[in-house]
Amino acid sequence: MRILVVEDDAGIALGLRTNLQQRGYAVDACASLAAAWTALCTEPFDLVLLDLGLADGDGGDLLLQLRHARKALPDPLTPVLIMTARDQVADRISGLNLGADDYLVKPFDLDELEARMRALLRRAAGRAHPLLVHGELVVDPAARTVLRAGEGVELAPREFTLLLLLLESRGRVLSRQQLEARLYNWQDAVGSNAIEVHVHHLRRKLGEGLIQTMRGVGYFIPQDERA
Ligand code: CA
Repeated sequence: MRILVVEDDAGIALGLRTNLQQRGYAVDACASLAAAWTALCTEPFDLVLLDLGLADGDGGDLLLQLRHARKALPDPLTPVLIMTARDQVADRISGLNLGADDYLVKPFDLDELEARMRALLRRAAGRAHPLLVHGELVVDPAARTVLRAGEGVELAPREFTLLLLLLESRGRVLSRQQLEARLYNWQDAVGSNAIEVHVHHLRRKLGEGLIQTMRGVGYFIPQDERA
């Protein structure tokens, strides 16, 4: 899952980035509205964490711009979570009125942030249930665990995220480029066969039939007929 952090406090941005990367997210950080807008116009982010008080303006303006320009963006429905020190009720209401999906007042607990992020990502993927079930697989995005026929399976963080992306788009083919864009940030050096390698590992751990290849197009997990 690719996250954009828009935050001009370098310490907070670094802390968020480090922590969320440890939790398996690909994170890019921008310190200004201008940089954030460029990022949103060029990359498909799954979620935006938006500070309101930024050096070149108010985060609310970015939100407004985002909500008005949806069709022009690579990922038009990206959820936005506002994080700000302004804890007045009026600010919260105006943030939500501008189209924010959630709101967190600084300083906040990282576990709470991640729980809210997961809820937004789940809602964006159209899921009400916190667990993903597919055939003999049960995937828990909160605990980052996978059960196959009741047995726990160990996955590396990016293998887990790749599985989640494919499960959430069941029946749809995702290209290597689409998957790379959601698994890696700008700084990551991505080997040309990185996705292939993760798919290979997932097949080995979860069964050869789970992830299908559409040659020259990409990968997909077919709809679960038993579901
Ligand atoms: Ca700020």
